Amino acid sequence: MIVAGRYFPPSEARSIAAFASVVGKRQLRFETEDAYVLFEGPPRGLRSTPRLASLTRRIELANGARFETEDNDGADALLWKLWRLPRGRMTARLEKGWPAVALLLLLIAAGGYLFADRAAPMATEHLAKVTLITMAHPMSEQALLALDRYALTPTGLSAADQARANVLFERAEAQGRLGAGGYRLVFRGGWRIGPNAFALPDGTIVMTDSLWATMQDEDEALGVFAHEISHVDHAHQLQRVYQISLWPAAVATLTGDISRMSEMAANLPGLIAQAPVPDDFERQADDDAGRMMRALGAKPSRLAALLERLDRAACRGKDCLGGWVSDHADVAARVARLKAEDVAPVNACAGDWRATLSLACLRSIASR
Ligand SMILES: [Zn+2]
Repeated sequence: MIVAGRYFPPSEARSIAAFASVVGKRQLRFETEDAYVLFEGPPRGLRSTPRLASLTRRIELANGARFETEDNDGADALLWKLWRLPRGRMTARLEKGWPAVALLLLLIAAGGYLFADRAAPMATEHLAKVTLITMAHPMSEQALLALDRYALTPTGLSAADQARANVLFERAEAQGRLGAGGYRLVFRGGWRIGPNAFALPDGTIVMTDSLWATMQDEDEALGVFAHEISHVDHAHQLQRVYQISLWPAAVATLTGDISRMSEMAANLPGLIAQAPVPDDFERQADDDAGRMMRALGAKPSRLAALLERLDRAACRGKDCLGGWVSDHADVAARVARLKAEDVAPVNACAGDWRATLSLACLRSIASR
């Protein structure tokens, strides 16, 4: 690559016909026709006028010398060869310092893993818990609409049965974080999801007719309601939605933008109808249900009995979802845990004196 032009020595107005080229380890060289070297050195401080139509291109050196040429393509090629210098140097440095580079990559990977393993779940949990019910409401409404269209049918439960269920539900909701009136029980016929109950983020709890039909006593109904109320209290559904869309969730929660919430609602029906509930959420809901049941004078082992019955009856065919119990792989472990809760000390009341003096604890102590 040789570019013909005129070389102007530092602070001189007269020029010498010269050729520019890049030699050796990206050194810029200007020489005369008879190979007399006018300048050779690194292109430090080099400046070039931009390419403008057929204007003369000027390349200035740090020492005040300059080179002018009409060969724009040649100048571009020359500069391109020179500008690659920093990258070439960087590569050389990386090659020399590969242990440091490997360590750096390892640290980046570890940071990414820690973020995915610890920070992201903590962030989703926090965001889910600070999401206001008013923000969770449109999302819940939309999810229920979608489920009504694709997975649920209207309830066939008699008015008397609905009234009985509501009375039990009111007893259970008084134990929840939001208290009486903070939750809402709705009935659905059920279709693809089998005997089921699930909680929506705004406190709406959906129960299918077939789950109600499977229950044998009031304790079982209290257990199911308490379990679902716990899912609402810990914002478990919201956490699952936010796990899929953490950044939109963060923006929506910070700005209070309800329209973004309804965008995220698109994921909720699928999560409810198809994705299994994470084991730790299920364990937390069972433990809370056990505590609330004891506080209500009900036996947690009744919830275990319902789980066993549902597990036996669950159809495990291809197009048949087993409902409340099928999502959870380890039914036996859940049953054992709940059975042990009948005789377990009331953990929530054992800790400090404020908990012991709470209404729920005093009631549960009185009922023993
Ligand atoms: Zn559950």
